[in-house]
Amino acid sequence: MTTQPLAAPAAPGLPKLKFNGSDRFLRELRRQVDAYFERTGRRRRDCAKMYFKTATILAWCVGAYVLLMFVVTSWWLVLPLAAVLGLSMAAIGFNIQHDAAHKAYSERAWVNKLMAMTLDLVGGSSYLWDWKHNTIHHTYTNVDGYDDDINIGFLGRLSPEQKRYPFHRLQGIYLWLLYGFLAIKWHLVDDFYNVAIGRIGGHKIPRPKGRNLFVFVAGKVIFFSLAFVIPMMLHPWWAVLGVYAVAAFVSGVVLSVVFQLAHCVEEADFPVPVQTATGGARVENEWAVHQVLTTANFARGNRVLSWFLGGLNFQVEHHLFHKICHVHYPELSKVVEQVCKEFGVRYNANKTFWGAVRSHFRWLVQMGRPEVNPS
Ligand SMILES: [Zn+2]
Repeated sequence: MTTQPLAAPAAPGLPKLKFNGSDRFLRELRRQVDAYFERTGRRRRDCAKMYFKTATILAWCVGAYVLLMFVVTSWWLVLPLAAVLGLSMAAIGFNIQHDAAHKAYSERAWVNKLMAMTLDLVGGSSYLWDWKHNTIHHTYTNVDGYDDDINIGFLGRLSPEQKRYPFHRLQGIYLWLLYGFLAIKWHLVDDFYNVAIGRIGGHKIPRPKGRNLFVFVAGKVIFFSLAFVIPMMLHPWWAVLGVYAVAAFVSGVVLSVVFQLAHCVEEADFPVPVQTATGGARVENEWAVHQVLTTANFARGNRVLSWFLGGLNFQVEHHLFHKICHVHYPELSKVVEQVCKEFGVRYNANKTFWGAVRSHFRWLVQMGRPEVNPS
């Protein structure tokens, strides 16, 4: 089952964006993916592998936290353990929360809701994620002004349509460091700010109410208690802040880099919509073709990375079939690649993780150069 999310609100001042009406490519993709599930008899959601993986990752996170709180005291063990905690927080996001937020985890709505709340536990907000990621990013992938994920403000120029500043010449170097602050900014500023102003980037969002508001507030209270209040009862404040900084920095770098390798690489397109006679905007390709051309896979053969990243190195399949549990992506990628071949649609894939990192670096350097798009 695929959703073609076209109901996202356009940013104020921007015309509503539509895709080309044809859905031939999408229909063929669905037909072949349906055939795959019929042939193998596998379940799209509620996979035993996924439940086992959830237990493993949660145990990893709780284990690292308990060791830091009650067992380990020497700094040379505390620091690497804080990094391990940060990695487990990223793994919760990649694997459990991301699938659940897309309703790809289970057939049961309450299981998806519960698992999506693991994001609130590690300092984010499942409510805001739903808007920022599921609605805005997945609808308008890589369309400047619409996709908030490629907008990091004046600090970096990620798409050719964005304004260039002279210091972007160095963005290929300094952005890697700034990526580390993503999670810290997210924990301490962004969620509160977005709720206060009722907007994410240029998109208006309804403020959480009722149950959503309760989960938002309770999530923040639990996260701040776990990250700061309770540890400070047992350890000096500077040690607690140090552990938080390392864990949040590591998870920030990992989360940002993995996202960038899927969309901000040389292989991905950044389509510019054309204005229609009625004042709207239209992307020339059908939605599914747009998703494939704006997204890139990487390291598909790397089993360790594929496990840790929750299938986010298979973002082409994720963008097309985000309601299917990620444990199926490696197999589905063979199906999708074949259909792309049949339809003459370019299938983007970097062979290795480092190949994708180099591609992202080259893209940043290219976007920072004045001659690309003189402004
Ligand atoms: Zn997603």
